[in-house]
Parts: sequence; C-alpha cells; structure tokens
Amino acid sequence: RGEDFRPAIELAERYGVHNYNPLPIVIAEAEGVWVSDPDGNRYLDMLSAYSALNQGHRHPAIIKALKEQADKVTLTSRAFHNETSGRFYEKLAKYTGKSRILAMNTGAEAVETALKAARRWAYRVKRIPEDQAEIIVCEGNFHGRTITATSFSSTHGYKRDFGPFTPGFKLVPYGNTAKFKEAITPNTAAMLIEPIQGEAGIVIPPEGYLADVSRLCRQNKILLLADEIQTGFGRTGRRFASDWERVRPDVYILGKALGGGVLPISAIAADEDIIGLFEPGSHGSTFGGNPLACAVAETALDVTIHERLAERSDVLGRYLLEHLRHIQSTLIRDIRGRGLFIGIELKEPARPYCEALMLKGILCKETHEHTIRLAPPLTIGKEELDWAIPRIAAVLQN
Ligand code: PLP
Repeated sequence: RGEDFRPAIELAERYGVHNYNPLPIVIAEAEGVWVSDPDGNRYLDMLSAYSALNQGHRHPAIIKALKEQADKVTLTSRAFHNETSGRFYEKLAKYTGKSRILAMNTGAEAVETALKAARRWAYRVKRIPEDQAEIIVCEGNFHGRTITATSFSSTHGYKRDFGPFTPGFKLVPYGNTAKFKEAITPNTAAMLIEPIQGEAGIVIPPEGYLADVSRLCRQNKILLLADEIQTGFGRTGRRFASDWERVRPDVYILGKALGGGVLPISAIAADEDIIGLFEPGSHGSTFGGNPLACAVAETALDVTIHERLAERSDVLGRYLLEHLRHIQSTLIRDIRGRGLFIGIELKEPARPYCEALMLKGILCKETHEHTIRLAPPLTIGKEELDWAIPRIAAVLQN
C-alpha cells in the first residue's frame, strides 16, 4: 500500500468524533462489489455498509434515478405533495403486502415510528389503560442509537452513562418461546424483534421460534413488529427474514438497502388499522418521504426485484457457507448464516483478522468482538466468491 490514504484519516481523526473504530482504509471510489483506495488498490466489499448496499455500489439504474430526480425537485417537505412519493409507497406496499407506508430517514427513526404506532394502537384499539402499554424486546437486540432504543438494549457499552431511560420495555431471552409467553400480560402491546439478530453476531433463532412468537402474538392480541432493517430486501435469501418461517409481522420496520446505498430512507409498512392511527400533527419528519429519496428507493426496489437479489443471496449464500465450513482452523468456534448474511465466530477477538483480510483485499468488520460478519452486496458473482474464499481461508488458517 502507498501512503495516499493517510491525510484523509488524519483529518477525520483530528476533527471527527471517535464514536467508531474504522479499519485504516480510505475508500475513494466504488463500483459494484469493488472499492478502491487513493493509491488505486482494489478491495472486495464484504460488509456492504452493514447491508445498506445490497444492490452494490452506485448501481447504474439507481444513480440514473438520483440524477433525474435531482434535476427536477429534491425536497418539498410533507407540507405539499410531489410526483414521486406516492409511486414509491405503492411499490413498497406491494412488496410488503401491507396497505400503507410511512417513510422516515434512518433505521432508528423507523423503529421509533413503529413503537409509537404500537402504543397508539394499544390505547385506542386494545384499550390498555393510559401509559400502561408494555413492549417486549429481546436480549442482544440492536434497534439503533436513540435514547429509547438505547433504553432497552441489553449491551452495557451502548447504555453506559446515557440514562435515565425510557420505561415500558421488558427484556426476554432471544429464541426462548416459554420466556416470551411468561412475559405477556394484559398490558402487552407489542413484541419488537429482529428475525435474525445482526449486530449481536448473526444470531439465528431456533427453528419454529418466530412462528411460535407470531402465533402467541395473535392469540394474545399483541402486535408483532419485525425489525428487518438489516435482514430485509433479500439479504438472508428471502424477501424478508420473517419469510423463513412464513411469518407475516403486523409491522415491517425497514431501512438500509431501501436507500440503494445512495441515500438514507427508512419506512414502516403496516395495515390501515395500525398505521391509520397517525392523524395530521401526530408524527413526522422534515426529510421523511422526500422526492429524491423516494425516487432512489423506488428504483432500489425495482433492482431488488428484477435482479432477483433474494434468490441470488440464497444460492450464493449456501455456496459461500459450504466453502467456509471446509476451512480447517482451530480458531473458528462457529460458522452460521442465512443467504449472504454470514457470521464466523472466532475463539479470540476478530479485529486483527479483519485487518489481515483487508491487507489481502477483503473488507469486512467484526461485530460483538469475536464474530466476523460477511455480508457482501447481493449482486456479487460466484467468481468473486471464488476469489475471496482462499484468501479468507489463508487468514484464518494462520
Ligand atoms: N435495527 C437494526 C436491526 C439494525 O441493524 C440497525 C443498524 O445497524 C438499526 C436498527 C439502526 O439503523 P440506523 O443506523 O439507520 O439508525
């Protein structure tokens, strides 16, 4: 490697806040599954901005939509209508099978929106006494960085010195149906769940768990809120990770790849009886549902559907997983995944191995200290996986 990457890092370290711990690489250009640094070295992106780049970097159709919309109108606010948002809502409604869409910007905002919808529904439809609504969440969860999402996190480092916390949440162990059942009371409004826990280290619940949770929710008149921000849009080899157990949540919480790796846009998708409880003035966001982001998201959805990204992820994910499982290494504790959403859990901290992979031309990042997350763009080809597999093997065998 040359030295051209140093000034950019020094500036960022000098003036930026150190709330992340990035690998020492500067991405200067990107296309498809490849990125390059200022010295012209190429790397295979196997992180995809935490699954926000399912369609690959700068997908030509998405960039075209961005430019065309940028030449017309970018922002109207919701004070006025525009020609783009409705088209996007219709497309996402059809994709999710829900009747209405509420667009926001970041994943954390979509989570907050779903929680507000669930509380509204609890008071107005389920008739839970005022301010008594309880929402059940899972240990190991990650739903974003707002005060409320931080409040019900079970990870000490996410919470430390950020209190006081938002009340009304109850933690249960992930994957344990009996404990979920025990936690239900007449005041339970909703269960908020990641169908596969991403940040926790690609944790796949035991078979049947999601279906059991969904059934218990229906029996007890509890809303099921599926946080598919990281797992949606084909990432796990299905349209949504909930599809693995034929579960249809009451609310889909979506983000990341909805923006096609170009702009932040998030949304919740639900039916009228839940989402219709937001009247004018009750919720909103200045940039939420802006025409530029909606034009990008509409095309990001088109690409996801037309390029059959879920099917690709399923087939290529199985291929990658099988080859990774052949790696003989005493370092590896577990390899697990669904589609191109794969975790390699090591017996020691994963960071030095991510650094070694970077030097071999593969970009990925540790999650929860011991797990390497592999989540390349879903547009990746078999040839690129064949390029990556021996390099990953070489690093893990050392
Ligand atoms: N929910 C899940 C499951 C996530 O993985 C993330 C981000 O990693 C979020 C919520 C938060 O999304 P954002 O960073 O866009 O606020």
